[in-house]
Amino acid sequence: MIKLMYILQNYLKVKKVQKYSPEHFRMWQNKQLQKHLKWINTHSPYYQQLKKSRTYDLTDINHYPFMNKPFMMDHFDEQNTKGVKKEEAFQVAMHAEENRDFSPAIGNITVGLSSGTSGNRGIFLVSREEQSAWAGTILAKLLPNGFKNKEKIAFFLRANSNLYESVRSNKIEFAFFDLLDHFDEHIKRLQDYQPTILAAPPSMVRRIASAVKEQKLNIQPIKIITMAEVLDPLDEAYIESIFKQKIHQVYQCTEGFLGCSCSHGTIHLNEDIVYIEKEFLNAEKTKFHPIITDYKRRTQPIIRYRLNDILTLKSEPCPCGSPMLAIEQIEGRMDDVFILKDKHKDSLEYVFPDFIRRACISASDNLKEYKVIQHNVLEIEVQCLVFDEEKRQETEQSIESNLMDFFQDNYLSPEITFSEYEENDRLTKLKRIKSNIQLNEGVYNTK
Ligand SMILES: [Zn+2]
Repeated sequence: MIKLMYILQNYLKVKKVQKYSPEHFRMWQNKQLQKHLKWINTHSPYYQQLKKSRTYDLTDINHYPFMNKPFMMDHFDEQNTKGVKKEEAFQVAMHAEENRDFSPAIGNITVGLSSGTSGNRGIFLVSREEQSAWAGTILAKLLPNGFKNKEKIAFFLRANSNLYESVRSNKIEFAFFDLLDHFDEHIKRLQDYQPTILAAPPSMVRRIASAVKEQKLNIQPIKIITMAEVLDPLDEAYIESIFKQKIHQVYQCTEGFLGCSCSHGTIHLNEDIVYIEKEFLNAEKTKFHPIITDYKRRTQPIIRYRLNDILTLKSEPCPCGSPMLAIEQIEGRMDDVFILKDKHKDSLEYVFPDFIRRACISASDNLKEYKVIQHNVLEIEVQCLVFDEEKRQETEQSIESNLMDFFQDNYLSPEITFSEYEENDRLTKLKRIKSNIQLNEGVYNTK
């Protein structure tokens, strides 16, 4: 079932490409893209029908329109290259979900269900070969010592998925931890398992770090990888202070494995498997939505898929020498963006989450946890957990004045209220910056 050969092949290829010069890399990448588009044009009925010329120009909007989840679902049957029907795929996925069967498949193709934040469900198809290639890429990018030492990876997921199960050999071993299980259970298992690598959402890694600090748990992972949630600088500092090492990040979603941090801690986008176009969000061209074309996925083409994430470009080149695009930070999704009224003209403006985040964490060392929620243009709620309760008022005042200093210069200042910190339940992703305002695309400006 698992194709170790594919994993190794991809592993070696990734290692090689990472050493290319920027010029060599762009040439290589362009060739991969052309090859992929050519293949898709002859195998996907959707692109076949759109094809008018023999050129494979990705920027030709008539031939390669932008995709998102609704688009993918609308054109599911004719877009995939294996003739899988949407209805059948949905049935297989739903049946598997009800029975907690984690490997739904149609023949050799795995069917994945993505929940989506607003309830619109999507179906994803991946072949066994694609899974193996994916595993090889992940290993090459994340294993600290390549295949030299045996690594034991503790992997925290919402449910054990067979995408991950495919990675198990005498050099590597995965133990899966279901995020829904009780935390005490995790502590017991981690203590017995003694992972060399810990991979989990940052909110979970933080709880584990606290358990280590309180001496309820004793583990010494050599690498810690966070995924699935935005890594907040507050959590990053806390975790690093306890495990005494740099935290690594994987940037991944159902649409693909999009990036991960290098030995210098910089996140590089995985341009060796995904071609990335940028839709810029500000005049300085530092923030953008990535539009991804995955040239490894043939079963269900991902071509010009527009993501809602906000990425910030790194201004300095990364010292690691990787030719792949370096990212300063992943800020979260567009629905985390605040909207405020401009002070000088009658317009609404985007305020990106990193401004809010910085205003909070720079306010006080006493801040343990926080959330900032925008209810409307004139109302912002802040929830704090503090280390020292006696200094709560001081801490809150400091946050308020930081936020106000930032708002006053440009915006009609909203009212800031403080309330009790609400813990997240185990199912929802932790979001520190949250906006309850419904976005109308294209109506807003950015500073
Ligand atoms: Zn780097």
